[in-house]
Parts: sequence; structure tokens; C-alpha cells
Amino acid sequence: MKTQQPIRFHNLDAITEWSTQHADEIYQVSRWGEGYFQVSDKGDLCVSPNRKTAGPMINMMEVVEEIKSKGIEFPAVIRFHDILRSQVAMLNKTFRETIEEARFNGSYCGVYPIKVNQMREVVEEIVDAGAPFNYGLEAGSKPELIAALAMNMNHNSLTVVNGYKDKDLLRLALLGIQLGRKVIVVVEKYSELTDLMKLSQEIGVEPMIGLRAKISTKSSGKWASSGGDYAKFGLTITEILQAVKYMKSIDKAHCLKLLHFHIGSQIPDIRTIKDSINEGARIYAKLWKEGAKLEFFDVGGGVGLNYDGTRSNSASSTNYTIKDYCADVVYILKQICDLEDVPHPNIVSESGRAITAHHSCMVTNVFGALEIGEASNFNTDKIINENILVTNMRDLSIELTEKNYQEVYNDATKLKEESISAFKLGILTLDERAKLETLYWQICKKIVGSASRDEYAPDEILHLKSQMAHQYLCNFSIFQSAPDTWAIGQILPVMPIHKLNEKPTELCTLVDITCDSDGKIDNFLSADGPTNTVPMHKLVKDEDYYIGLFMTGAYQDIMGDNHNCFGRLNEVHVFMDDDDPTDFYIEEVIMGNKASTVLSTLQYNPETLAQTVKYAIDTQVKRGKIRPREGVGLTDFYENCLKSYTYLKKEK
Ligand SMILES: *Cc1c(COP(=O)(O)O)cnc(C)c1O
Repeated sequence: MKTQQPIRFHNLDAITEWSTQHADEIYQVSRWGEGYFQVSDKGDLCVSPNRKTAGPMINMMEVVEEIKSKGIEFPAVIRFHDILRSQVAMLNKTFRETIEEARFNGSYCGVYPIKVNQMREVVEEIVDAGAPFNYGLEAGSKPELIAALAMNMNHNSLTVVNGYKDKDLLRLALLGIQLGRKVIVVVEKYSELTDLMKLSQEIGVEPMIGLRAKISTKSSGKWASSGGDYAKFGLTITEILQAVKYMKSIDKAHCLKLLHFHIGSQIPDIRTIKDSINEGARIYAKLWKEGAKLEFFDVGGGVGLNYDGTRSNSASSTNYTIKDYCADVVYILKQICDLEDVPHPNIVSESGRAITAHHSCMVTNVFGALEIGEASNFNTDKIINENILVTNMRDLSIELTEKNYQEVYNDATKLKEESISAFKLGILTLDERAKLETLYWQICKKIVGSASRDEYAPDEILHLKSQMAHQYLCNFSIFQSAPDTWAIGQILPVMPIHKLNEKPTELCTLVDITCDSDGKIDNFLSADGPTNTVPMHKLVKDEDYYIGLFMTGAYQDIMGDNHNCFGRLNEVHVFMDDDDPTDFYIEEVIMGNKASTVLSTLQYNPETLAQTVKYAIDTQVKRGKIRPREGVGLTDFYENCLKSYTYLKKEK
């Protein structure tokens, strides 16, 4: 599914005098960071949770130190709850200001779609920060509505229910109405409407109803199929008209409250948004004239983020800001309502990604580097009677210059292929094959060096360079912490969180610790667009090197799975505190899964496992194969492993 990217490299050689300004550029911090993240003069990545440079500034390395001092292992999720609050306030204020400026008569009543991150602490923080704005919640399933009904106690905010519904889900929504809440059931499928009306009559509670329109505007990007005629959700125009007729016929047209559409997540292009508002506004106006006096106009989610820093209409970016978005929604809706001479409705939006993405990140340690042809000190000296293939490879390595590298590469590659055939035929010994391959990789390394200095290096050689990049082995699972980079090729910002005052010299790809060859990241941002490698510092023996994977608060945190039994991560919740010398405090620590927890979810019984292994050890002790003292130690060791974190443990 991943698209082939053109081969681009960070041109580190061009930077002679490194400054933290270069770090900002190479990792595009100011772009994707949106004012929340910046590089300090000392070279640490810092967070300003309310985007004010004069306000509190949290040094991520100080957070890491505190995490270490509490004995919490990495990888760890770090949540900055104040960023969530800032984003909620920013979205609501921007809509309010735009509405005022446009002299729009409706108000803004946004909802947070909890599927984007259902963590209780996240939802709680959003509800709390949104209270002054009557910001509500959106639920897309039974368990989500069960949570939303208990989380959103504000009678003035909306609870919007999307997704396919059974009778229990409809009944839960009506329960919300009985509790005095504004719960709007959005009909995705015609039969839900008749089911709902039947149920409402049975229990004598009038519902609040929304209609989801299948509008024809289609988005580009990775979620394009959420819109258009063949979308999974929503009513066709014919069905909508039929619904209005039906509601009028049973004298319940006043229950129709909201028009909804949602054309997909991470909409890259502002023109798509303009088109969808245009089409939606016309539908709203025409329905109003048909007698459906709707009060709310729900534009769904889809506000995208600038993950790759390019501010373009590429799939990992957007060519608009939240301000542009709000302006388009308000002004286009107003213009069409005025033209059609219908009242301005209240505006609802369901932005999830834009609210949550920035607040959380994953921090982990790099465990080591995997290098192709690493054993480069293998003795390749000439011996008498050596195989001619080895001699030829050695000659090639001597012939190699800055000028003839393409030619030498062709010959060396051919020779290496021949050597494999020779080995299979039994002509080449194991030692000779090792020598030949060592020489080959030494040649390739030199070629890559020459190509880096050559502006016109051929694609094939650039490809070699990208293939020979170091692989940094990072203590995490992409399937748990960044599923979208694996599943749909989404770019997420990745960078070291310290040493940013030193020039990174290694171009790397990142591999995780799962036994899956897909468990890697080889698609990164750069100032010129996507690239296969990320600049990292040379690893120093006995020194920790920490990297962060950013903008994981939307979907990534919550969709991850336990591939290879790597479970949920340790999590720390950081709050800002201007009066504290560090500007922060850790409010809560949620311990990640232990091996036993992950195994239990797969129907293993940890106690039985421990007993079985203990029995096997005891048997070996009886047979005299293991000494009794050692046996006790081994039993304890197995049990401790069961109780410990699923990720790699750092040796002290
Ligand atoms: C997923 C979803 C959203 C959230 O979309 P974002 O792109 O995260 O803002 C909103 N509404 C509906 C109906 C959804 O399915």
C-alpha cells in the first residue's frame, strides 16, 4: 500500500557550522510543532503547552530524567494534558471569533469524537477544558455512548451518536434524553429512523434526530472513500427526502434537528472542504424549505494536520490552517443561507485528530545500530592459492576511484552474484565467501561516500545509499505505537530529543523490536518532502540516546495492538506548573502491561504457566541435571519475567 517515494537525502554535508536552528529545520520542529515544540539553546527538545515562549517551558529531557528516577522503563508514552486544553480552547475560540466577525447568527457547538482517543483521562480533560464553550462529545458505538453518557454531564452541550445502531444503542440515546441531555441520534441507514421512532413511541420519549447525508464531494488523501456515492455511511438525497416526508406524516418533523456529513479524515486540500460545505449548505437550505427546520449543521471531522511539515496538499499534510478552516465553514454557510433566505443554523464540528494529535508522544531509547557488513575488520589479506573471485574483488577495491564508482559497482555486484553460484557448487570455501563479501561491502561503503559528494549520482547508487543506511534498533513496536505508519504510510515526526546542539552524522532508518520485517520506519519528513532516512547522532557506548515519535495522540495511542505480545506502554501524564523550577510535574503514572497481562488476554493462565515450568525445573533437579539452589533461582527468574514489562530491559 505504501507509495514509492523519490529518493531524497538530508544534505548534512552542506551544513558546516551546526546550530540548533539547523536542528529545527532538519526535523521541521516549528512546522509540525505548531508552537508547542521547540529546540532549546542547550539542544534539548522543549514543550510550551500554551504556545507562549514567555510561558512555562518543559524540557523533555528533564521529564525523561524524572521518569528514570521513578524507575519507570522505556518506551513510555508522555501526555501533555495542557496541550489538549490549549487545542480545545483554540478550536472553540477560533470558531467563536469567526462567527462574530462574520455576523453569523448561529453559534458553535462542537463535539469531540471519542474514537480518536477514548482514554478516560483524555476525554475528561477535553470535557473539562471545553465546559466554558459547551463543547460536547461524539460517540460511534455502544461502548462509546456508554462512556459519553457518564462523561458529558453538561446539559447545554451536545452528544452526537454516529455509526450503525442496534435497538440497545437507540435505547441508550433515549436514556440520555430522559436524563435531560441533548443527545442527537444521527441516522446513517434508513431503517434506523423507523426503529428509533417505534422505540420512542413505546417509551414515550421524543428523540433528537440528525440525518447523515452521503454528499458527492470526495476528499483526496488516505480516507477518500468516506465520501461520494459509494460511501459506507449516510442517506442518499432520495432517502433524506423520504425521511422528511415520513417524519411529517407522523407529525414529528420537529424532531429532525441536525444535518450531518463527514467526508473522511486528514483532508489535505482546502478546496475539498469548501466544496463539501457548499454542497451541505445547499442541502440544509432546501430541507429547511421542505419543512425540516433543522437547528444544527454538522460538518463532521476531517481537519488535517501538518505531520510532515510541508504545509501542502500531500497526504501527510494540509494546505490550510484551523483558522482558514473555520473561516470557510462560517462564511460559505452564511452566504448560502442568505442567498436561499433561510436562518443561520448552529455549527457543529467533530474534529478529533486536530484536538488530540499533538498532546501525546512516545519516547524510547535506541538499543543499538545494525550495520550492513558490520564485521569490517574481518581479515581479507591475500593468501597463496586463493580463489580468483576473491582476488578479483580485492583488485576492484584497489581500482575504485571517485570517478569510476558506477563501473566498479556494476562489476562488484556481478562478481558477488558469481561467487554465490561458486559457493553453491562447492568451489568457494566459507572463509573465502566471507572475505569476498567483506570486500564487497567495503567497496559499497566507499561508493556511497563518493556518490554523496556527486551532485549527479545515478539513481541506482542513491538507492544503494538508502539501502545501506544504518538501522537504529529502537525499543518499541510500531504496531503498538504508530500503526498508521505501517498500515497506510502516514508520516509521523521522529527525532532525537537531546543533543540537538550537535550535528547528527548518521542517516538512519528505524527498526523496532518485533520479529516482523514490516516493523520499521523508513519514511520521514524533510524540508524538501518525504525521504527514506532520518539524521541521527552516532551512538556513544554506555550513553543513552532518546528519540521521540510525535503526534501520536490521535488514533495511534488507541489503535495499537499487541503484535509479538508487546503490550500497552508505561504512561506518564505531565502538567505544567509555572511555579515549579522545572515548570512541570508528573501527575499520574499508568503502568503498561506486564507479560502476564498480555498472555492472560490470549487465554493463558500465568499461574499455570509458572507451575508447569516449576514442575519441569523440579524434575530436572531430581534427575540431578540442575542443582537445587540453581533450580530455585530459575523458578524465581521465570516468575519475575512474567511480572515484568514486555519491552526490552536496559542493562544497568
Ligand atoms: C472519525 C470521525 C470523526 C473524526 O475525524 P477527524 O478526522 O479525526 O477529525 C468525526 N466524525 C465522524 C463521523 C467520524 O467517523
